[in-house]
Amino acid sequence: MAEPFGKAGLKGQRFDTVLIANRGEVAARIQRACRELGLKTVAICSEADRQAPYGNAADTFMCIGPANAAGSYLNQNAILLAAHLTGAGAIHPGYGFLSENAVFSEAVERAGLAFIGPEASSIAAMGDKISAKRAMILAGVPCVPGPDTSLPDDSASVEQIAEEIGYPVIIKAAGGGGGRGMRVVPHAGKLHEAIALTREEARQAFGSPALYMEKFLQHPRHVEIQVLCDNNGNGIWLGHRDCSMQRRHQKVVEEAPAPGIFSETIEPVASACMEACRQIGYRGVGTFEFLYENGAFYFIEMNTRLQVEHPVTEMTSGIDIVQAQIMVAQGFPLEMRQDDVACVGHSFECRINAEDHESFLPSAGTISDLALPEGPNIRIDTHIHAGYRVSPYYDSLIAKLIVHAPTRAEAMAKMREALAATRIEGISTNLPLLRMLFEDEGFARGETDIHYLEQWLRKRRAA
Ligand code: ADP
Repeated sequence: MAEPFGKAGLKGQRFDTVLIANRGEVAARIQRACRELGLKTVAICSEADRQAPYGNAADTFMCIGPANAAGSYLNQNAILLAAHLTGAGAIHPGYGFLSENAVFSEAVERAGLAFIGPEASSIAAMGDKISAKRAMILAGVPCVPGPDTSLPDDSASVEQIAEEIGYPVIIKAAGGGGGRGMRVVPHAGKLHEAIALTREEARQAFGSPALYMEKFLQHPRHVEIQVLCDNNGNGIWLGHRDCSMQRRHQKVVEEAPAPGIFSETIEPVASACMEACRQIGYRGVGTFEFLYENGAFYFIEMNTRLQVEHPVTEMTSGIDIVQAQIMVAQGFPLEMRQDDVACVGHSFECRINAEDHESFLPSAGTISDLALPEGPNIRIDTHIHAGYRVSPYYDSLIAKLIVHAPTRAEAMAKMREALAATRIEGISTNLPLLRMLFEDEGFARGETDIHYLEQWLRKRRAA
């Protein structure tokens, strides 16, 4: 396979040290990519993460603030100061925390450092879901029915918008994220209450009361397209993923490719995504998220960062997405063209969370013992080890188990075995739930929409 990047015509910033502005498995993942590229790393941590194994493996390890993320992983000044003190030339934000914060990416570049991600203007344009929708419509990307403007204040107008779309509708915060700031409205009687509640939530959680309304699709799947663009206006898409297995809008299992999607259906959609990338001058990796129902795609949002589920695309496309991000930031031109992209086989990823598998309450504590699966085409992305203390302060994701096989059925069988071989003692995890899911016949048939997991959990509780 051709190398994705050429070496000539650099149009970016040279750096030899990357500060990793994140924690947990993704900090370890980014560190690996940096070292493979011959770059030095600066790991940062909060007081709760002083024992992080990627800290010891970094060239420099610096505690930048208290356990509370606001004072550490979200503290822009502390991170910029750490970069200055350690001589880092670039900052990789990972996912979550400051990864989609346009103000931060601008501050990084103003400080003369490279931000390993898109330009602030792209982050800002896609961070506002209304302006993102407008940009997609301009580029010909199919969107969920509903206006690309924020909801007006007067009741008669919003009622009319809802009638035109047709119930059920969903009210969403323009600045929402992480599955929060949205509310389904089944009929007209619930409209005003839903708007008032979502507006208040949006004001408090996202700092902007702007809302919009769209059709609530009843049985969609969540299908997304991974893109990679350089600094010279070239871009490719690396196939698609299905992330329909969700609980409370949070993905639990992801796979690539999305089963049962024909190339004739997805290719025009992906071409429109690449056109959108050209129009907004997109740089780096990104994901276009869609709902897929009755053979049609509906754009919901673009993530302007590395995603948790990027490994399934790495397994099928053979492209190291984190290395690619870094190379784009250094200005390497993309030489690979769309025809060179060949996605092979099938990959699954399970998110292993430190949580009770019945109540889903987070489970902090010390991992007393641990056994992780091994074998060809099995990958574990994690930072944990026996003796590691899972902190109550952060997201409960502690490891990702990824497998790759020629077919979906073989990949499922491989995941079943890998899950059976995984043991994490001392804390509760969702491993029992993941094991049961990979025995489920509906999932095996690829018949899962975004409500499947919640319905499955309800049925199990009732049994
Ligand atoms: P976030 O930025 O919070 O992740 P998204 O817009 O990506 O929000 O939506 C998250 C999830 O909410 C989707 O994966 C899907 O399950 C559900 N969802 C969002 N919009 C719709 C819609 N129009 N119809 C049905 N479900 C939706």
